[in-house]
Amino acid sequence: MLMVGLTGGIGAGKSTVTAVLAEAGAVIVDADRIAREVVEPGTPGLAMLVAEFGDDIVGPDGTLDRAALASRAFVDQERTAALNAITHPLIGERTAELIGTAPEDAIVVHDMPLLVEGGMTPGYHLVIVVDTPAEIRLQRLVEHRGMAEDDVRARMSRQATDEARRAEADVLIDNSGEPGPVRELVRVLVDLRLRPFEHNLRTATPVVGDRTVVPFRPDWAAQARRACARLRHVLGDVAMRIDHVGPTAVDGLDAPDVLDLQVTVRDTAAVDRALRLLTDAGYVRDRSREQPLLHWCDPARPLEVTIVAQDDPEHEFALLMAEVIGADPSARAEYTEILRRADREETREWERTIASPT
Ligand code: ADP
Repeated sequence: MLMVGLTGGIGAGKSTVTAVLAEAGAVIVDADRIAREVVEPGTPGLAMLVAEFGDDIVGPDGTLDRAALASRAFVDQERTAALNAITHPLIGERTAELIGTAPEDAIVVHDMPLLVEGGMTPGYHLVIVVDTPAEIRLQRLVEHRGMAEDDVRARMSRQATDEARRAEADVLIDNSGEPGPVRELVRVLVDLRLRPFEHNLRTATPVVGDRTVVPFRPDWAAQARRACARLRHVLGDVAMRIDHVGPTAVDGLDAPDVLDLQVTVRDTAAVDRALRLLTDAGYVRDRSREQPLLHWCDPARPLEVTIVAQDDPEHEFALLMAEVIGADPSARAEYTEILRRADREETREWERTIASPT
């Protein structure tokens, strides 16, 4: 099962994207709908809210009066926490229930407006952000949905900025133009990335990157940061530190398009624990290497994750290397040359030498 998080600011056009994903067979889990469902008339959720906030949060027709609830719940942190303590577990339970009924080979898309605000992005295999500039969103919501401008602006001000959301995107979908090309893009995304990703995860098929040297890509650092956050989500305290290492960590260096990530753990027992956690989460062990090394399953983002104990010299040298090479122009040129020859042993030996204190 592939877990995709889909987000975007209010009015970004998430429904344009979920419609195509649903047509392609994805299971859509709609966070807004669930939030409404768990407090519908007759639910234990609504009863708990009434017990906490009083009878007058319910309108004459028996449904929740959201404005009345807001005026009682959003007065201070304690009252807001009381609201969340009721709704969050119910939403969580219902979400888990829906995901639990999806088939084993499903692409599950969690459509979640506040994914970034809630710091939840590392929990998904892939995060898709529908990106539409705030002014266009405002215009669409006022014109198509009849919302008041002030209301839209107030809601936007409580959401993450477009920039913060973009930083969390593995896939950024620009929906500022016509919807037609966006739909086509989403279909291609399903065929070329989501389906193979799901298949690889389910069948433990690793994506082993191509070692051909390509021109430096400025987004390697951000991709590595997101990949590290995902590893941290899986490993928790078992990892002492997680670093982007190897040639792609050297700013400006041409390198193979494979991100090297190093997980440092306390001792050899922790190496085994980390290996187990990562393989359970879908990372695939490379048995051809002596050192504990795993590949990931995203066809568009090859990764090599190594696990080292803190007293292993390997740990230090990998951390030093990017720094030493980054500061030395002739070392950079030499490194790219060696990377081009694509001989792993030779590369490793050279890296060791350059990072050793003289
Ligand atoms: P949200 O991301 O909040 O779910 P919606 O999918 O409801 O946003 O889209 C907000 C509004 O913008 C809707 O009225 C929708 O029809 C409209 N919309 C979405 N995408 C486009 C587009 N590419 N061009 C014009 N209008 C669009």
